[in-house]
Amino acid sequence: MLSYEAARAKVMEVLGGRAGKPGTEIIPLTDHPVQACGRVLAEDIFADRNYPPFNRSTRDGFAVRSADAAQPGARLRLIGESRAGAAFGGTAGPGECVRILTGAPLPRGANAVVMQEYAHKDAEFVILEQPAVAGQNYVLAGAEARIGETVLRLGTRLGYAELAMAAQVGRANAAVTRRPRVAILCTGDEVVAADETPSPVQIRNSNCVSLAAQVALAGGEPIVLGIARDETAELRSKIEMGLTSDMFVLSGGVSVGKYDLVEQVLIELGAEFFFDAVAIRPGRPSVFGWCRGKPVFGLPGNPVSTMVTFELFVVPAIDFVSGCLPQPLPLFKARLAHPVNEKAELTHFLPARLKWLNQEPYVELLLWEGSGDIGAVVRGNCFLVVHNSRLSLEQDEQVDVLPRRDMF
Ligand code: AMP
Ligand code: MG
Repeated sequence: MLSYEAARAKVMEVLGGRAGKPGTEIIPLTDHPVQACGRVLAEDIFADRNYPPFNRSTRDGFAVRSADAAQPGARLRLIGESRAGAAFGGTAGPGECVRILTGAPLPRGANAVVMQEYAHKDAEFVILEQPAVAGQNYVLAGAEARIGETVLRLGTRLGYAELAMAAQVGRANAAVTRRPRVAILCTGDEVVAADETPSPVQIRNSNCVSLAAQVALAGGEPIVLGIARDETAELRSKIEMGLTSDMFVLSGGVSVGKYDLVEQVLIELGAEFFFDAVAIRPGRPSVFGWCRGKPVFGLPGNPVSTMVTFELFVVPAIDFVSGCLPQPLPLFKARLAHPVNEKAELTHFLPARLKWLNQEPYVELLLWEGSGDIGAVVRGNCFLVVHNSRLSLEQDEQVDVLPRRDMF
């Protein structure tokens, strides 16, 4: 059985060999930053001029020539003012200084800014209480980016800082990849729509909701197909519908039970499978295949299994088909609040809560009733990873944590 790392690598390998280049479109960035957030650039974006465009003061104070101010107590003639948006037109000559404000261009001749806290005025003179060193308290023109330099690379996912950068260099629009359409189908005779009243033996469809939210968070466009009964004909027609999207995610019906028909129907439709089990809990019977030119994920139907396996296997696939370099699984370390002992020789992803005590991250497991227990994930904010290579963990040791992407 594949490890989760090998299964992720397999997804990448298959997509690398088979997925086409993503389509692109031009979208407005400046006018619709909320819609642009999360999109992936399909072009490089360049600096249209030097940044900063001029030597930019980082303080309120006095622009000076450092040679005049090597010793404290220098007395300089004040000859003008440079403020943001209105530069001083002249040159600071020997023995002269210019009043300067944060964000203003450094005047010609000056090569240092002395903070106003370290200077005082005396008629038309300024007395510096501290010496000045060349280069202090301003940013050199072009230090942040040179004209023509790439400031955002093709394949970058746009977040608020990237949108700010695009705005800074004057890009109101940009080419981005099309958001992949990810079809979602939930299977099960016991599953009814969330707005229906279930019979005593039925349950509401929560997976379509969590999957749609996870697809959107990952940068895809969810196409929710609803519920299919555990019945071959209905499954087939709904699966055929799902295969018209860019990617297909199914939940339920992938175990080995008599009514787990998803794999069988996919095979009838010509699917090829690359794995149908991964050495993890929850989520062991996860399926990844290719059918009619589309990647297909069959995720186990228990809600926590569906959530975890989506993060492990579908997120990197959405990155890939969006033209974005897939990121490694964002594991980080936290101190374990109590010992953990797992029996099954699998890598466990257990609902857990990360807290900070004295600025140090601690993680504690939550009691749960297994992979049907959505409440455990709700009470937590991450998954504790217990690797199958070490199933017993001691209190206070540093352990791996997979944060919930919508929590941090
Ligand atoms: P399955 O993977 O089909 O064997 O389903 C495993 C468990 O997940 C069963 O207890 C199902 O009732 C439950 N389940 C399956 N699909 C959903 C769904 N869409 N929403 C909530 N729970 C589900
Ligand atoms: Mg089922």
